Amino acid sequence: MNKQPCPICGRKLPRGEQIGHISMEDAPHVHMWKTHCLYCAVTLNRITQHDEEHVPWSSSRVTLANLIRQLGDDEFAGMQDRVKQYPSILNVWREFLKPRRPNDEIWRYAISTTDDPYDHGLTVRRAHHLIGSFCEASVFWEEIDQSIEDCRAMVDYIFNDAL
Ligand SMILES: [Zn+2]
Repeated sequence: MNKQPCPICGRKLPRGEQIGHISMEDAPHVHMWKTHCLYCAVTLNRITQHDEEHVPWSSSRVTLANLIRQLGDDEFAGMQDRVKQYPSILNVWREFLKPRRPNDEIWRYAISTTDDPYDHGLTVRRAHHLIGSFCEASVFWEEIDQSIEDCRAMVDYIFNDAL
């Protein structure tokens, strides 16, 4: 078991699996981990160096400071219609929405003030917790005929890169 609990419900978590590592010449070697809270139905990520048990888990690459505004019902319906046209993105979209509960909200975020499309997207908000992220640029990629693999890789990269 992890010493670090689920950041949303405070329950204990399974140890999780290592999903990758980053090694750069001048920077310390880091490990990327993933686990899942069964109660919250949320995937959690963290990046560790040596003292891994003290690193908290993160439920989203997005922070409260990144939030712009809540997505309106019309916008949400429009997004649903748009992603339905792209089977690969639809799967990513469904995974993104899976943990959502009746009182949760969808918020638009921007991680930076640049117009880099990969810094903009949607996240699920539950009180002061944020869950996951969906990059709207992934839909754009599909529309301009990028390969599904590239698109998925980009979505994965965006999520894992955030921690
Ligand atoms: Zn939990």
